[in-house]
Amino acid sequence: MALIVQKYGGTSVGSVERVQAVAKKIKAFARSGDQLVVSVSAMSGETNRMMALAKQLQDKPSLREVDMLLATGEQVTISLLSMALQQIGCDAISYLGSQVRIVTDSEHGKARIKSIDDHRIHNSLDEGKVVIIAGFQGVDEQGHITTLGRGGSDTTAVALAAALKADECQIYTDVDGVYTTDPRIEPNARKMKSVSYEEMLEMASLGSKVLQIRAVEFASKYQVPLRVLSSMIDNPVGTLITSEENIVEQAVISGIAHNKDEAKLSLIGVPDKPGIAFKILKPISEANIEVDMIVQSVSAREGLTNFAFTVHRDDFNQAKSILQTICDNLGAMDVQSDDKVVKVSLVGIGMRSHAGIATQMFEVLHNERINIQMIATSEIKISVVIDEKYLELAVRSLHSAFDLEKG
Ligand code: ADP
Ligand code: ASP
Ligand code: MG
Repeated sequence: MALIVQKYGGTSVGSVERVQAVAKKIKAFARSGDQLVVSVSAMSGETNRMMALAKQLQDKPSLREVDMLLATGEQVTISLLSMALQQIGCDAISYLGSQVRIVTDSEHGKARIKSIDDHRIHNSLDEGKVVIIAGFQGVDEQGHITTLGRGGSDTTAVALAAALKADECQIYTDVDGVYTTDPRIEPNARKMKSVSYEEMLEMASLGSKVLQIRAVEFASKYQVPLRVLSSMIDNPVGTLITSEENIVEQAVISGIAHNKDEAKLSLIGVPDKPGIAFKILKPISEANIEVDMIVQSVSAREGLTNFAFTVHRDDFNQAKSILQTICDNLGAMDVQSDDKVVKVSLVGIGMRSHAGIATQMFEVLHNERINIQMIATSEIKISVVIDEKYLELAVRSLHSAFDLEKG
C-alpha cells in the first residue's frame, strides 16, 4: 500500500463543481488501496480578494492580521472537499495547519515550516480516512497563525510528503506538467517528462510560478519524488521532478522563465568611491526590500558612476523614495526608475558544458530589436531585463531559436 500526498491548486477547487470533480478523483485513488493525504489551496481568486479587502482598510496592514485573514481561504476548501467526499461515500476528515501542528517560524507572510506532527494524520489514515489538510498555513510556537507566502500550498504538500515519508507528492494544477516555458505565453511549449530539482529551482526562482520555490527546495533536500499533473484530464502523466542522475535526455536549454514582478531603479552620476554599493544598498535592505539584479557601470564620466538594481514591483515606491534620499546624501545627479520591465531567463544544466549560449541569446534579442537593460548569469542560467512590452516576443523568439517547441 502506497502513501501518496496530493495537492489541488486554486483553479482545481475553484467552484463547487470542481470540488466535486476532485472528490471523484480522490475516491478512485482511495479505492485502489493507496493511503491519501490531500492538501488544498483556497478557491482561485480568493486570496487576492481578501488581500484587496485588507488594503481597503490599511495601506500596510499588520502581517499577523493578514495571515489570520488569508488562512481562512483554505479553511473553506478543506471543509467543502471533505463534505463532497463524504457525500459520495468516501470517508474523509479535514484539518487546519494548526490542528496537525504544522509549526513554522514567526515570519508572517513568508513563514518557514519547522516541523509537522504526523500522529494525528497517521491515526486518521489508519481509520481508513482520506486526510485533507489546509495548504499555505501553519502556526508558530506562540500559537499565532502564519502563512507560507503566495503559492505556499505546494510547500505544504511537499513538507507533508517529507514528514510522512510518502511514496510520491503529486501537485495537481491546471496544466499537465512543467513545460519548456509558460504555455499561456507560448502555446507551442513542450511538456517535459522530467526535470532536475536544480533546474526546477532555477525556473521557480526566476518566475515560473507552476511550483513555489520553497516546495522545490524541500523536495530536493528530502529527495521527495515530486510530480506536477493536471487535475482537469483523466490519467494525466505530468512531469517528474527528480535528481539529475535520473534524467535520461538532457537538453542544453531546458526552459525559459519570465518574471513580471520586476522594477528597476538607477542612481545616475554617483561619485565613484569605495563603499558606494554598501551605502546605496544598506538602507534598502534595512527597509526589508530584497534586491535582485545589480549593475554598477564603469565610470561614465570623470569620477562618476551609475548604479542600477531591481526590486519586486510591490517594493518599487518605497525603494524609490529611499533612493531619492540616498541620492541627496551622496550628491548624485539623478534617480531613474522604471516599473515596466520584466526578466526573461534561459535555464539548463547543459549550459555548463556549452559555451556561446549567452551570445546566441543576445543575437536573438538583437534580431528582434529588443534592448537588453541588464544581464545576470550563473552556471545554469542567463537572465536579461527588458521592457515589458517585449515579453511575449522575447520568450517566443528564444523558444523557437533554442528548438524548444513540441516535436
Ligand atoms: P495552482 O493554482 O494550481 O497552484 P498556478 O497558477 O500557481 O496553479 O500554477 C500553474 C500555472 O503556472 C499554469 O497555469 C501556467 O500558466 C504557469 N506556468 C508558468 N510557467 C510554467 C511552466 N514552465 N510550465 C507550466 N506552467 C507554467
Ligand atoms: N491561496 C494561496 C495563494 O493564492 C496559496 C496557494 O494557492 O498555494 O497564494
Ligand atoms: Mg500555485
